[in-house]
Amino acid sequence: MTGLVEAPAKPKEFYLEKQFHATGDAAGLEALKEKYRGRFLDYGDPRTTEVVKGYVMQAVFYQLTGEAFCPEKRCRLYNAHWQEEVLAQLSEPEFCPAHRRRLEALARG
Ligand SMILES: [Zn+2]
Repeated sequence: MTGLVEAPAKPKEFYLEKQFHATGDAAGLEALKEKYRGRFLDYGDPRTTEVVKGYVMQAVFYQLTGEAFCPEKRCRLYNAHWQEEVLAQLSEPEFCPAHRRRLEALARG
């Protein structure tokens, strides 16, 4: 859970504002998180399961094909480095056309 929340970067403005206000105290940090709520995954976030499905599919796909990641940002197999990229992957369609076809072929065996 810590990796899901802390590893992909939050919006740039979040860090700039955090630095500018030097919000070392818990209340200041909570206020800042509230301002940017929805733009990053937080502890207890209901979207967590969907995000994990994407990471699982990346691992499964790599095991099955030996191919890592996809250059299409909206594909679940894209290697997101920003929280907003992770969350953008949750909208339909789940996979880019190439990976959808690839997965359908794998499912047929
Ligand atoms: Zn793809």
